[in-house]
Amino acid sequence: MRRTFYKMKTNTIMCALWSIRPTTPPHTRAAVIGAGAAGIVSAKHLLEAGWTPDVYEQYDTVGGTWNYDESHTNEHSAMYKNLRTNLPKELMLMEGLDYKIQDRSYLNHTEVLEYLRDYVVKFNLEEVIKFETKITNVVRSPDDIWVVTSVHLPSGTIESKEYDAVFVCNG
Ligand SMILES: Cc1cc2nc3c(=O)[nH]c(=O)nc-3n(C[C@H](O)[C@H](O)[C@H](O)COP(=O)(O)OP(=O)(O)OC[C@H]3O[C@@H](n4cnc5c(N)ncnc54)[C@H](O)[C@@H]3O)c2cc1C
Repeated sequence: MRRTFYKMKTNTIMCALWSIRPTTPPHTRAAVIGAGAAGIVSAKHLLEAGWTPDVYEQYDTVGGTWNYDESHTNEHSAMYKNLRTNLPKELMLMEGLDYKIQDRSYLNHTEVLEYLRDYVVKFNLEEVIKFETKITNVVRSPDDIWVVTSVHLPSGTIESKEYDAVFVCNG
């Protein structure tokens, strides 16, 4: 696969993922920025294609914008208390996992978040997620490698790592 810089948008996830193919090492290192819906789907498909993803998530949990936060300390979430999805769950479904709820199509934000968490558990994604780690810089080196810099927020530790591809799933 070409070394590629992906900008993931939810409605284009499947198109972009379609282009992932098993490749010959060493071109199998991917950084995924964000552990919202786009990031966790990317991680699952990368693992299935034989890649080694590192998913970087600035918060200590998955689900991205679906993490409703009554005190509004999570700046990333735009959820509000009484939100119901404006798409039926049948359209929001991700390959490999059904929603537990069967009796209605329009869910509240808590139910969507639970679904995303279940997805992470089902596909063992937690082990590839680096929580509380924020990406601060992404550059392409002259030898065609992506250099991704992160800061582990609790400790302040800064790390730069090389990747063959970067999936930008930051919402
Ligand atoms: C109010 C509201 C209602 C919505 N309703 C629906 C709906 O009904 N149906 C539907 O399908 N979609 C809906 N959406 C769209 C929603 O955005 C998508 O469903 C989906 O959750 C987007 O996922 P994402 O992974 O692209 O982004 P996000 O969920 O935003 O996740 C991005 C993640 O990246 C992390 N991140 C960002 N920057 C960095 C960084 N530098 N380093 C590390 N981590 C980083 C964030 O912390 C976050 O966890 C709604 C959105 C909003 C805001």
